[in-house]
Amino acid sequence: MDHAKSIEAFKEASRYIPGGVDSPVRAFGSVGGVPPFIDRGEGAYLYDIDGNRYIDYVQSWGPLIFGHCDPEIEEAVVETARKGLSFGAPTLLETELAREIVELFESIDKVRFVNSGTEAVMSAIRLARGATGRDDIVKFTGCYHGHSDSLLVQAGSGAATFGNPSSPGVPADLTRHTLLATYNDLESVERCFEQSEGIACVIIEPIAGNMGLVPAEEEFLKGLRALCDEHGALLIFDEVMSGFRASLKGAQGLTSVRPDLVTLGKVIGGGMPVGAFGGRREIMAQLSPEGPVYQAGTLSGNPVAMAAGLASLRKLKSDPSIYVTLADRARKLTEGFAAAAHAVELPMVTEVRGSMFGFFFTDEAVKNFEDAKRGDNEIFKAFHREMLERGVYLACSSYETGFISTAHGDELIEETIRAAYESLERIAE
Ligand SMILES: *Cc1c(COP(=O)(O)O)cnc(C)c1O
Repeated sequence: MDHAKSIEAFKEASRYIPGGVDSPVRAFGSVGGVPPFIDRGEGAYLYDIDGNRYIDYVQSWGPLIFGHCDPEIEEAVVETARKGLSFGAPTLLETELAREIVELFESIDKVRFVNSGTEAVMSAIRLARGATGRDDIVKFTGCYHGHSDSLLVQAGSGAATFGNPSSPGVPADLTRHTLLATYNDLESVERCFEQSEGIACVIIEPIAGNMGLVPAEEEFLKGLRALCDEHGALLIFDEVMSGFRASLKGAQGLTSVRPDLVTLGKVIGGGMPVGAFGGRREIMAQLSPEGPVYQAGTLSGNPVAMAAGLASLRKLKSDPSIYVTLADRARKLTEGFAAAAHAVELPMVTEVRGSMFGFFFTDEAVKNFEDAKRGDNEIFKAFHREMLERGVYLACSSYETGFISTAHGDELIEETIRAAYESLERIAE
């Protein structure tokens, strides 16, 4: 495969944009090499500026559940754009999309739209703090909730549960209000509640997708619910990734546990920048202008973005069997990957939730971030490179989740598995 134009484009981009990208993971830092610069997408395929074609298992990191250039979503976007790109005033589209979401999610009575997942989570945390009058929050190591200050936190020294900033520029004064717990480990959450005077909320990806794909166990989620109730803290499900991906109702279609607040993003915008947060009526009533907790956005509820989201959600609602098909294909794909790895005596464990899939080069079950780190990153890097050269575009980090779209037919899955056999045989040599 020739990458000459992408190599040149990356050089040029790096002259004007830090690291040549607008979001760090895109720079291919953890797999090496130069990221292909994309010219266009079509269904399951990406085409780069060198004219190479790839089967795309990233799908813009989740949003494109119908693949690239779905005609109905495209039409909704174009038609809406013709009427004006933004008004900063109410439109009917916002209410329509809000109604679709409220009808789907039992835990959401009201919802507010923002422009990204980061914004959705940041606002939900402020709302939880405002509604409870408390400052501390609990998050889990390995879960990603966007790049707002309170959530860029890593474990401190020793047994302390209070976090340290994971990026320069984040005040330690702020992150000491973020306590860190271990995913799928209820005792670690109990310790947080013992150490803090006032926990406003526990935030979790109920299906973690940012340490690879690691679902929360049902008993663990039930335990979180009980702990939050006992201590008067709110439970926030960050479903920015799992929403409309794991099932039509996200993780909440797969667990009986109900959160107080939910954050959404990715699929909800159908490829346009949209985030949302919602929850019980009395909590959402705390939000400005109904209540005192301030939150706002010039482009929030943007009509073109709402139209894309609405078209996507209506398509999903009209045929919920999509998720069965997508999960079958995801399972077929990961079983194929595992068989290809085992054929050359490399370890692999896999996970599937709806249209989301994950794989780790380890033979031990992965329940939390510590386990995820045991995956062999050198093999992953080599696998990523070999697959890319064979026309398969996988997420460029072992801590990311893969996504199937409705455009990924059985033949493409089979082609991908064949590429996996070839790649892994090459690596084993
Ligand atoms: C992607 C993601 C976010 C951040 O969303 P952005 O739109 O990238 O700001 C937050 N939470 C989870 C679970 C995500 O997967």
